[in-house]
Amino acid sequence: MINKSANGLMFVISGPSGVGKGTIYNIVLEKMPFIKRSISVTTRQPRVGEAEGINYYFKTIEEYQQMIANGDFLETASVFQNYYGTPKAPILTMLEHGDDVMFEIDVEGAKQIKTKYPACIQIFIMTPTLKILEDRLRGRGTESKESLKIRLNGARGEIEQFKQFDYLVFNDNLDEAVESVMSIIKAEKSRMMMHKNTIYKILND
Ligand code: 5GP
Repeated sequence: MINKSANGLMFVISGPSGVGKGTIYNIVLEKMPFIKRSISVTTRQPRVGEAEGINYYFKTIEEYQQMIANGDFLETASVFQNYYGTPKAPILTMLEHGDDVMFEIDVEGAKQIKTKYPACIQIFIMTPTLKILEDRLRGRGTESKESLKIRLNGARGEIEQFKQFDYLVFNDNLDEAVESVMSIIKAEKSRMMMHKNTIYKILND
């Protein structure tokens, strides 16, 4: 049985580029379908196989800037020369319905969400060494030489911000990393303070 709280919980998965956070995120969402996916808005071009409204909402820079001006974002950051942001309205609706939401965003966006919603649960994904991170980024084969350099330079700065996070998960072995993230979610959903009313209801039934 999965505990449902009055207001949904926010789980943020973050970490440097190439660490495998997107893979972990997708597997955890598959295994825990009660958690809702946050679909981000971006100005980057869709990759082969990506679809509007499934992977991202793809916008032009002008459309994106209009959304910023309208105050439509929970957080927004410039990542590797493109904008990425979390649209506010759908997330607030999910949380008000008591649904838990999980985000896969960069460290700057994670910081913005923590400032606005200190109760959000932030998980930092790391590789055991920087060399492993570099090898993974090269092996992925999706990055140009220039992009690889930008991502590696950014990684050190992102790792240095580890203190804002609540949990650290090493992605040394994918299955173990997924298990760790799921254990964190289960533990957070079992916190007594969130279920006081459930206990009173059981006692009074
Ligand atoms: P990609 O272009 O590979 O899909 O994503 C690049 C980076 O942008 C990843 O580190 C990813 O976590 C981050 N990202 C994706 N969506 C968001 C978002 O809504 N906000 C922020 N701040 N970062 C995001």
